[in-house]
Formats: sequence, structure tokens, C-alpha cells
Amino acid sequence: MNEYGRRILEDVIAKNRDQLEFIQAVREVIESLSPVLDRNSLYEQNAIIERLVVPERIIIFQVPWVDQAGKAHVNKGYRVQFNSAIGPYKGGLRFHPSVNLSILKFLGFEQIFKNSLTTLPMGGAKGGSNFDPKGVSDMDVMRFCQSFMRELYRHVGPDCDVPAGDIGVGSREIGYLFGQYKRIVNAHEGVLTGKNMNWGGSLIRPQATGFGNVYFMREILKTRNETIEGKIAAVSGSGNVAQYTVKKINELGGKVVTLSDSQGAIYDADGIDDEKLEFVMELKNVRRGRIKEYVEKFTSAKYYPDAKPWMLAPVVHLALPSATQNELDLEDAKALTAAGCICVSEGANMPSTPGAVECFTSNNVLFGPSKAANAGGVATSGLEMSQNSMRISWTLEEVDNRLQQIMARIHHSCITEAAAYGMPGNYVAGANIAGFKKVADAMIDQGI
Ligand code: NDP
Repeated sequence: MNEYGRRILEDVIAKNRDQLEFIQAVREVIESLSPVLDRNSLYEQNAIIERLVVPERIIIFQVPWVDQAGKAHVNKGYRVQFNSAIGPYKGGLRFHPSVNLSILKFLGFEQIFKNSLTTLPMGGAKGGSNFDPKGVSDMDVMRFCQSFMRELYRHVGPDCDVPAGDIGVGSREIGYLFGQYKRIVNAHEGVLTGKNMNWGGSLIRPQATGFGNVYFMREILKTRNETIEGKIAAVSGSGNVAQYTVKKINELGGKVVTLSDSQGAIYDADGIDDEKLEFVMELKNVRRGRIKEYVEKFTSAKYYPDAKPWMLAPVVHLALPSATQNELDLEDAKALTAAGCICVSEGANMPSTPGAVECFTSNNVLFGPSKAANAGGVATSGLEMSQNSMRISWTLEEVDNRLQQIMARIHHSCITEAAAYGMPGNYVAGANIAGFKKVADAMIDQGI
């Protein structure tokens, strides 16, 4: 590893000992950047890595709220504004009991490079709360969101920081957050993305992360003259990203045989076709139920409590983890490789552990890392911001075409940069290098 990079990594580890996810993300980036740092001393002279690994600002706040039974609650709220070199801060909000500073710092750090890869002018940020919307009534979710925005509004704005959704924050939550922001600042402006179509949203935004990941996988497969048609795919999660991943795989002639949630996984050897997917969407988005209900409706499928999807199918050609970080470990990677997996493309953020990534790459399994593969979501958020600024709405075809072009361009950047630094076919290195260079050069231009 480059000496400068090694020194900064050791410093990050020493100063953030309990932030394991954050250290994992920083280590991967610094390792990838070694040849870049070897070739260009300007990055060290300008202390670029030191400045990149410390958020420009972290806001931590109390979120007090009263439920419909009159009981008072208090949660923690966060916004990590990591880097604004190439545009206003941009990144999702996550509402999940596991949310802590380490997870939000890892997500915000990753977001810097991901946003840069899209080629759109967006800085990196992430935020959220340890609030758990599961099993909470709509009105209580509204009360929580209103309290959350009562503090967050003073730190965000269309030219400053534009949050979006993530785990636990879908169109319902974005609506309540937007309503409260509008009420406080008295302006109908593009402060959040993921809005509903009839009040400032963009077509294709709900589909963008899942569709984008499949478009990215399609590009990766082309490098080996392969296609999605006829392939068996394992998908994890059953939320926004997983749902539209299944939809696009079906459209391109593949067959998805697994889904999961935080309580277990299902395996359906017949495939989750569009009709079954409709059921999952209604189950998850409207009834907010559990994936185990799938097997009550479709008896050909089996439910495995507390299981992940990776070891359930005897044959898997494609894997698209779409739930959460570190959900696919070395043992899972070995099982997928043994089941015939030829390509993994990450819909979730950092779902594969370092051991799993090493297993895939050493077994010649094509591997699309999250910061490239799932960038379609934030890219389409960028398109939503453009439409809001211009006060126009593009058609579905227009947004989808732009999304496909962006994913193809990201793929091209990964391939080109990896090859330029002597690591052909290494998408992890290519994504980190391509994302880094634009941000680092902007930081140098703008002075210290
Ligand atoms: P949703 O909240 O819509 O769905 C999340 C899914 O993951 C649910 O099925 C959930 O199960 C499952 N899940 C959450 N935590 C765990 C866990 N600890 N173990 C197992 N399963 C879990 O979120 P999204 O689909 O939006 O996000 C999924 C992933 O994609 C996240 O990593 C997110 O950061 C990433 N991502 C999302 C983008 C977007 O546009 N939405 C953009 C880029 C990345 P349960 O229902 O039981 O909670």
C-alpha cells in the first residue's frame, strides 16, 4: 500500500476504533487508490485523503415525538455532510434501529465517490435516525417525520443539502418530511428527492436503483459476451431496490428465485414472475407485512426463518444483494461460487464483506461494487433536481434512457480507470479511482 495512504488509514483506525463499517469503507478506498497516490504527489501535498476521511460537518440532534396514545418518545437524528467539492450535499436518510454514526459515516463516505461517478454535480452526505417505522401507524410515522424535519430544515436546502430515501424511508416518509419543510420555510422547492410525481417527483426514480443495478450488470456481462436472458438470479431484500431489481430481471428474460427480509428468506424454484412480484409489492409497500407470507400465497415456495438467500438455490448464475451492509459473507460467497455464480452486482450499499469480495475476484466471478452498481438511484435523484430547477417533467422514456446511459458511462469509467492503473477488470479499483479523481481535483482547485 502507498505509504501516505497507509499512514492516513492507520490514523483513521486509531481515531474511530468503534466505527467498524466506516473503517471497512475507508480501507477499501485507500487500498484502491495506492497506484494513484504513487503517481501524483499533489494529493499528499494538499492533504486530500486526510480531508476526505473527515466529514465537513456532522449534525446530531434529538427527535422528541408523541404517539397517538399520548406516549412521549425520543430518538436520535443525524446528518453527516461529508464532502461538497463537486456539488451540494446529497444522500439518503435511513430510519432503522441499527442506525449509528459508524453506519452513517460509511454510507456518507461511499456516497462521495458514488455521486462523483454519476458525473452529476452532487457532493456526498447521509443521515437518518434509529427510529423504526416497522409496525408504527401512518400517523405516528408522520409525527416522527415532522419532529425530525423540525430540526433538519435549518441544515438542508436545494443548493446546500438535498436528502432522499434509504432503508425505512420511502415515498410515505419523504411526503411527511417535505410537507413539514414546506410549512416551516414557506417555499415549495426541491429540498428532497424521491417525491411523488404529482408534487415534484421524477418518473423512474422509484425504479432507478434496482433498474440501474440490472443495467450495470448487463454491461458487466457484455464483457464476457453473456446476457441476463435465461439466467437464474438470487436477490436479497424485498424493499424498494429488491422489487425493481426483480422487475427488470424478469423483463430481460432472467428468473429470480429468492427474496428476503430481516426475519428470513424465501426460495421459489418456479421464479418470482411479475404477478408474484405484484403480491410482494402490495405486501411490503401497502400492508407492510413480512416476506414469510409469500409462501402462504404461493405454495411452490419455501420459507427459511433467519436465513439469507445465498445458500438456498442449488443453481445460481447471478447474485444481486439488495438489503443491507455485510449481508453476504465469505461462506455465502463460497456457496454462490459453487452454485455456478458468474456475476455479482451490489444493489445495497457494501453488502459483501471483504472476504466475500476476495472470494469472488479470486474465483473469476465478475463483481460490480455498490458505489458503481447502485448509483442509478442517486443519478435519477440528480435528474429529479434538474427537473425541479427547470420546473419541467421529462417523460418515462427520457429518464430511463438517461439512466441507461449513465450506468453505461459509469461502467466505462470503471473499466478505463482500472486498466489505466494496471488492474484490468477490477471494478472495485476502477470505481474508487474514477470517483476519487474528480472530487480530489475539485478540492485542489478550490484551495484549502
Ligand atoms: P427498503 O427499506 O425499501 O428495504 C430494505 C430491505 O432490506 C427490506 O426487505 C428489509 O427487511 C431488508 N433489511 C433491512 N435491514 C436488514 C438486515 N439487517 N438484515 C436483513 N435484511 C434487512 O430499503 P431500500 O430497498 O431502499 O434499500 C436497500 C439497500 O439499498 C440499502 O443498503 C440502501 O442503502 C441501498 N440503496 C438504496 C437506494 C434507494 O434508492 N432506495 C439507493 C442506493 C442504495 P425488513 O422489511 O424486515 O426491514
